[in-house]
Amino acid sequence: MPVRVAVNGFGTIGKRVADAVAKQPDMQLVGVVKTQPTFGARLAIERGYPLYVGGDGRLDAFRSAGIAVAGTTEDLLGKADIVVDATPDRVGREQVGKYDAAHVRAIFQGGEKPDVAEVSFNSLANFDAATGKQRVRVLSCNTTGIVRAASVLRGKYGVERWDATLIRRAADPTEVHKGPVNAILPTFQFPSHHAPDAQTIFPDLPISTTAVVVPTTLMHLHVNHVRLRRPPASTADVVTAFRETPRFQVFRSADHVEGTPQVLEFARDHGAARGDMMKNVLWEDGIHLSGADLFFFQAIHQESIVVPENIDAIRAMTGLAPNAGASIAVTDLALGLRS
Ligand code: NAD
Repeated sequence: MPVRVAVNGFGTIGKRVADAVAKQPDMQLVGVVKTQPTFGARLAIERGYPLYVGGDGRLDAFRSAGIAVAGTTEDLLGKADIVVDATPDRVGREQVGKYDAAHVRAIFQGGEKPDVAEVSFNSLANFDAATGKQRVRVLSCNTTGIVRAASVLRGKYGVERWDATLIRRAADPTEVHKGPVNAILPTFQFPSHHAPDAQTIFPDLPISTTAVVVPTTLMHLHVNHVRLRRPPASTADVVTAFRETPRFQVFRSADHVEGTPQVLEFARDHGAARGDMMKNVLWEDGIHLSGADLFFFQAIHQESIVVPENIDAIRAMTGLAPNAGASIAVTDLALGLRS
C-alpha cells in the first residue's frame, strides 16, 4: 500500500514537493491545499491533483472561478497518512492542532522554529532520527546545503573549525515585492541563524556563519573556510569525496560554469523540471586545500534543494525505507538526480 501524502500550501516549495511525491513509486499524492483560485490552483487541476481549500480561502471563490475543489484542509487530512506543510514561515506552526486532531504525521519546513517538531532532518546526516516520528522539520535551504557538506567533511576528515559567509539571494523569482534591487545588505546577527540551525543536527559542529543579501534570484552562494582535523592528501581527494556523495554536483574546469546563471542553464539544458538544481553545486576550481585549511564555494538552489529531503523524511517517518541509502536511491532515481 503506498503512503498517502497531503501537501498543505502549494507555493514555491509545496508545488515542487507535490510533483516529487507524485513521481515516487511508494507514495500517493492524495491532494494539495490552496487558499486562492489562482493559476497555481489551475495548475493542480491540470496535473490531476485533488485540490482542497485552506487558510482564509473560500470554497465559493473557487467555484465561481470555475475551479473544482474536493473540500477543505480538514477533508484532505482525513484521507492522508502524512502531511507536508509548505505554508509560509510561521503559518506551519498554526496548523499543528489541525494535524494532531486528524492524527496525521506532519513534516514542517525550515521557516518554522526547530521546536515545531520532535527533530530537524537531513537525509545524509540523521535519517534514522526521524524513524517513526510524528513531527519532523526539514532544514531550510541554506542549512540543508551546509549539513550535506558537513556530512561529507565530518565523516571523512573531521572538522576543527568552520567559518562560512552566506551570500543570499534577495528573493525567489516570483517575489516581486522583495528586495534589495540595488544594494548589498549585511545581516547584523553573529552568528547568523544558520550555524545554530546546523547544530540542531550536529550539536558539536564548530561552525560560525555570517550572511549578506544581494540583488539576485539565482541561488545562494556559500564561501567556506574549514579547518580539518585529518588533512586530506590533496585537493583532488576532497573533490572525489564530494563527487562520490549523492546530491553533489562538482563542475569541472573545462565546463566553464562561471557562476549561478550557468548552473541553472545546465539544469534547464538537462530537462530538469522547472529548471531546478536539487544538488549542492561545487566547482573543482572553487575547492582549494592549503595544509589542513579547506576553502570551497557552494551554490544552493533555494527553490528546490529541500525537495528530496522532504521525500526522504516521508520514508523515514512511515518506515517505507530501512535506511538513508535505500531512500536516497529511490528518491534520486525518481527525480532524475541519478541514472
Ligand atoms: P510560498 O509563499 O511560495 O508558498 C506558501 C503557500 O502557502 C502559498 O501558496 C500560500 O498562499 C499558501 N498558504 C498560506 N497560508 C496557508 C494556509 N493557512 N493553508 C494552506 N496554504 C496556505 O512559500 P515557500 O517559499 O514555498 O515557503 C514555504 C516554507 O518553505 C517556509 O517555511 C519557507 O521558509 C520554507 N523554505 C522556502 C524556501 C525558498 O527559498 N522559497 C527554501 C527552503 C525552505
